[in-house]
Amino acid sequence: MNENTDSIISWDKQHTWHPFTQMQAWCAPDHEPLVLVEGQGAILTDSRGRSYLDGNSSIWTNIHGHGHPRIVNAIRQQLDAVAHVSFLGSTNVPAAQLAHQLAALFPEQKLPRTFYSDDGSTAIEVALKMALQFWQLQGEPQRYRIVAFQGAYHGDTAGASSLGGIPLFHERFQRFHFPVERVASLEELVALPAFHQNEVAAIVIEPLIQGAAGMRLWPQGMLAELRNLCDSNGALLILDEILTGFGRTGTLFACEQEHIVPDLLALAKGLTGGYLPLAVTLTTARIFEAFLGKFEEQKTLYYGHSYTGNPVACAAALASLEIFREENVLEKLQTKISFLRELLNDLKSMPHIADIRQCGFIAGIDVRQPSGIPYPWQAQTGARICVAARAYGLLTRPIKDTIVLMPPLCTTEEQLLTAVNAVRQAVLQICGN
Ligand SMILES: *Cc1c(COP(=O)(O)O)cnc(C)c1O
Repeated sequence: MNENTDSIISWDKQHTWHPFTQMQAWCAPDHEPLVLVEGQGAILTDSRGRSYLDGNSSIWTNIHGHGHPRIVNAIRQQLDAVAHVSFLGSTNVPAAQLAHQLAALFPEQKLPRTFYSDDGSTAIEVALKMALQFWQLQGEPQRYRIVAFQGAYHGDTAGASSLGGIPLFHERFQRFHFPVERVASLEELVALPAFHQNEVAAIVIEPLIQGAAGMRLWPQGMLAELRNLCDSNGALLILDEILTGFGRTGTLFACEQEHIVPDLLALAKGLTGGYLPLAVTLTTARIFEAFLGKFEEQKTLYYGHSYTGNPVACAAALASLEIFREENVLEKLQTKISFLRELLNDLKSMPHIADIRQCGFIAGIDVRQPSGIPYPWQAQTGARICVAARAYGLLTRPIKDTIVLMPPLCTTEEQLLTAVNAVRQAVLQICGN
């Protein structure tokens, strides 16, 4: 395998361009990228035979572990039937079944309609276009403003990144983005003139926890309060559960924890268990029905992608839902969440750890100088800690100097112990005592 690894790395360095990556550093002769060749459960193996816990679930996607037989078999079976057919002008078995099952996941079937796309970003694009067209069709075109939160991350396509509130990612493109009303809190939302003047089409938020902002938690009760505000104002509520969906926060969806249902819900990352790209935008009967009419009325939603409703991806998603139903995933998860909380508590006394936030099976660990002052960002302390953690069996990526720990839900307590110990050792190694 090793000779092969050298050519793979050389082809990669010569011909690929990696996301969110300074390619000069990537291509430097002394940088050896990991070539991941195998996955089994929560463990990934590289081409040199080294194993790691998949500490960030392969960038927040994997739910039940790698190589899960139910998902692998579902994909194989669907491949034997057909790999892809168009959802434009026909339907397919897994896509219809999946939409049926997704509708049943919400109280009183409040989100009975599924619109398929491919990634989190596209699920957000769909939600935006649905919200904006909805108000036009309702005869309220003055409701055209979108409200998003500071620190938000909703994806990288131009529309989704218009909503983004992370300067490093989004500021450069500001003049090309559509205008968004940005608020930091519900107090700021209710103070917005556009809100009073009934100009807000929709408010979009990552419920319970802002992921890319650094695993930042919203105050408890905030989501329910936001739902109430939307109800009294009329603005639609778009929830981005692309990160939080499928058990990550301890319940199947984050919105369950505050007993609310949004008007539009974007799901992606974990939808297929993290095996294939697939996204959905779920919506209410009210929004769906506004688009109904005779062809000549021109109420149709003109939106779609080539791979909309891909049957192989839908088959993987069906298998993932079956695992939730038949393997008591959420029940088993609760003790692991408590165990993780205990392990993280023990880290808190380390002088270089300033704060630890946990939301279900997601954790963010802030590394700081003992004085509490952040390290200079140029030092890339978080990134160096994560590279060091590999030697202790943990593979993850930081957000700046926040170490992210969110392994697949199948991770065992023993593996959690390894992961947290790896963080401890790596922090000691990079930051000293
Ligand atoms: C990852 C993510 C997105 C974007 O999803 P992609 O599949 O990467 O396009 C949007 N919102 C949140 C909260 C995310 O974590």
